[in-house]
Amino acid sequence: MFPLLPETSFPMRLSQFLLPTLKEDPAEAQIVSHRLMLRAGLIRQTAAGIYAWLPLGIRVLKNIEKIVREEMDRAGAVELLMPTLQSAELWQRSGRYDGYGKEMLRITDRHDREMLYGPTNEEMVTELFANGVRSYKDLPMNLYHIQWKFRDEIRPRFGVMRGREFLMKDAYSFDLDEEKGREAYYRMFVAYLRTFGRMGLKAVPMAADTGPIGGDLSHEFIILAETGESEVFCHKDLIEMEIPGEDVDYTADLSSIVDERRALYAATDEIHDQAKFEAEVPEADRLSARGIEVGHIFFFGTKYSEPLNAVVTGPDGKDVPVQMGSYGIGVSRLMGGIIEASHDENGIIWPESVAPYKAGIINLKSGDAETDRVCEELYAKLTAEGVDVLYDDTDARGGTKFSNMDLIGLPWQIVVGPRGLKSGVVELKNRATGDREEMTPDAALKALTSS
Ligand code: ATP
Ligand code: MG
Repeated sequence: MFPLLPETSFPMRLSQFLLPTLKEDPAEAQIVSHRLMLRAGLIRQTAAGIYAWLPLGIRVLKNIEKIVREEMDRAGAVELLMPTLQSAELWQRSGRYDGYGKEMLRITDRHDREMLYGPTNEEMVTELFANGVRSYKDLPMNLYHIQWKFRDEIRPRFGVMRGREFLMKDAYSFDLDEEKGREAYYRMFVAYLRTFGRMGLKAVPMAADTGPIGGDLSHEFIILAETGESEVFCHKDLIEMEIPGEDVDYTADLSSIVDERRALYAATDEIHDQAKFEAEVPEADRLSARGIEVGHIFFFGTKYSEPLNAVVTGPDGKDVPVQMGSYGIGVSRLMGGIIEASHDENGIIWPESVAPYKAGIINLKSGDAETDRVCEELYAKLTAEGVDVLYDDTDARGGTKFSNMDLIGLPWQIVVGPRGLKSGVVELKNRATGDREEMTPDAALKALTSS
């Protein structure tokens, strides 16, 4: 069961925290995000492709989840929570049980009933919809949840990038006809651009030719990173185009936002055609890079509503199977993706939107009365102002504290030591730029509460 944490956050003293950082690169980690997630004490592997989320890691995961949830809600989707365990019978009715193969973890309960750990939820959500909705008047509807999935990947690797148990946001749209289904798809497309943008990521929407109708209603969203599993070839404007703002009107016609992107060339190595790429994209606009799939959306019409009998009565009084789409985001994979996109040789550089804490306080001389006093005061005041802060109150050496704080990548560091305090100053460091500035504790407080 997914742990339900309070939305509000609490400040934390490092002396009470579980933060098992590692000095050396773990031998099992091949890519930088995996190495840094282990070294910064975000995760620990408990079985192949299965991870425990340590206190710092769960905070980032929750922040990613929060952005995903806000953008889903903004686009008109409604949250629910379906269980991780499902009955095989449901999948037998859709016809997918036998075909799904070894990626599905199959379980038998004490009464010999066949169960499975859900790899996805089309069947279950379709059944819930069918039980609750009878009329076209209840449409459009989009239901989503953020829940753990299990896929018994043949080769789990790269940490949370390709795990066996992983957190996914999956949304499902229900509409009366294809036209409305297309509109639902466009809303999700725009919500995805916003979601990844808010995490500081440039996502390439890549048309995938699998939609049943016209073949154009499927996109993968790929973020660029050197260690990505696939090679991406696209027009550079795809990552430079402006992302729709917070005030985007989801009741308006959003087709142009999708179409102007669809008009630009994008392909992966699997379907790559070098001649076409060169013919369609002027040399100066060509972008080829490696990428990570963080989201996948598609419209599939009545594929599940027909076998599972999800019908609504239309305006003409006739029953029709609903038109559906599904929309996935790899929530836990995104944490790896963000680190791939934002780190340096010293560690992670969290974008403020997902950072586990906004600031860290480094006490350079625990036990020194004045240093302790200033740290405690900053800690209390920042907390009162609603700034998430991690206070390194341990008695580790200064050098260790500096390198650990850089490693875990909080956006801001306040360094407090007896030498500076003699002239009444602390140091404020920006993790991303490396800029340091001496100022009074009050000025540091102001800088952090006004930014
Ligand atoms: P992939 O091609 O990477 O296996 P998929 O096509 O199987 O992905 P979907 O079924 O579309 O993935 O799932 C939605 C999203 O869930 C993906 O875009 C990806 O971000 C994430 N995801 C899928 N499989 C995994 C996994 N094994 N570990 C972590 N995240 C995953
Ligand atoms: Mg897969």
